[in-house]
Amino acid sequence: MRIANVAGRAKLLVDGGAVDIERASSGRFGPDPQDAYGRLDELGSWARTIGSADESWDPAAAGPPVPTPRQVFAIALNYIDHAAEAGIQTPLEPLVFPKYMSSLSGPISEVVLPEGSVDWEVELVVVIGTTTRHAPARSAWQHVAGLTVGQDISERQLQRSGPVPQFGLAKSFPGFSPTGPAVVTLDELDARDDLALGCEVNGEEVQKASTADMIFSVSELIAYISKVLTLLPGDLIFTGTPPGVGMGRVPPQFLQAGDRLHSWIEGLGELDQTFVGPT
Ligand code: ZN
Repeated sequence: MRIANVAGRAKLLVDGGAVDIERASSGRFGPDPQDAYGRLDELGSWARTIGSADESWDPAAAGPPVPTPRQVFAIALNYIDHAAEAGIQTPLEPLVFPKYMSSLSGPISEVVLPEGSVDWEVELVVVIGTTTRHAPARSAWQHVAGLTVGQDISERQLQRSGPVPQFGLAKSFPGFSPTGPAVVTLDELDARDDLALGCEVNGEEVQKASTADMIFSVSELIAYISKVLTLLPGDLIFTGTPPGVGMGRVPPQFLQAGDRLHSWIEGLGELDQTFVGPT
């Protein structure tokens, strides 16, 4: 299944179009996309009975497919060559920080640049499907509802202003967490641990890698986080970015008004952000 959010309503994407989940199920499932991720098995059985699309699908009109997660985690330095370009030792355990929910946006958006040095980070985003505590890594994928594309847009001056990194705030300006275009369930993917991903700035490829290059795999991240706290249906995990961010370039390159950022993950879809100056 591919589940999207249009105007706050959950849509099932089929054959290039969409079906409104609440209307087509006569209210068996509610309209809020956030509620879909805890009922995926039920939703999947129902979805097999659905015929063709009865609405058009325009990603430009889509909101974040997971609009109000209770917890949003992100992982710093989860690809070896990105740790190297950041000038930081490869972590021995996952480095976990929050991104705040108000920074979420849909897949196609305009981002207002704050003061500072704004950078790109394409990332695989995991959507949790069940209440999860102490998940062993070997079975951790059972707790995943699906995957989507994310950008962990980052303002580097605030991030690096103190004695330790200020990740949470620096990565949570409005629009700094675009996601989408849809949450893709695992049955749609042949190689869930080996997905090509990348991004381009104004058409120039700046990041390209595979999620197989992660230091800590999706399973290991879920095991690690759920050892400490309870993961909840609809929570998000931004799983870290591969090498090629702007601060690692010589000279460093940051996003400017007018820039276009295109991000993609194999099998999941694309994001498009344009950047505008402060108003
Ligand atoms: Zn990141």
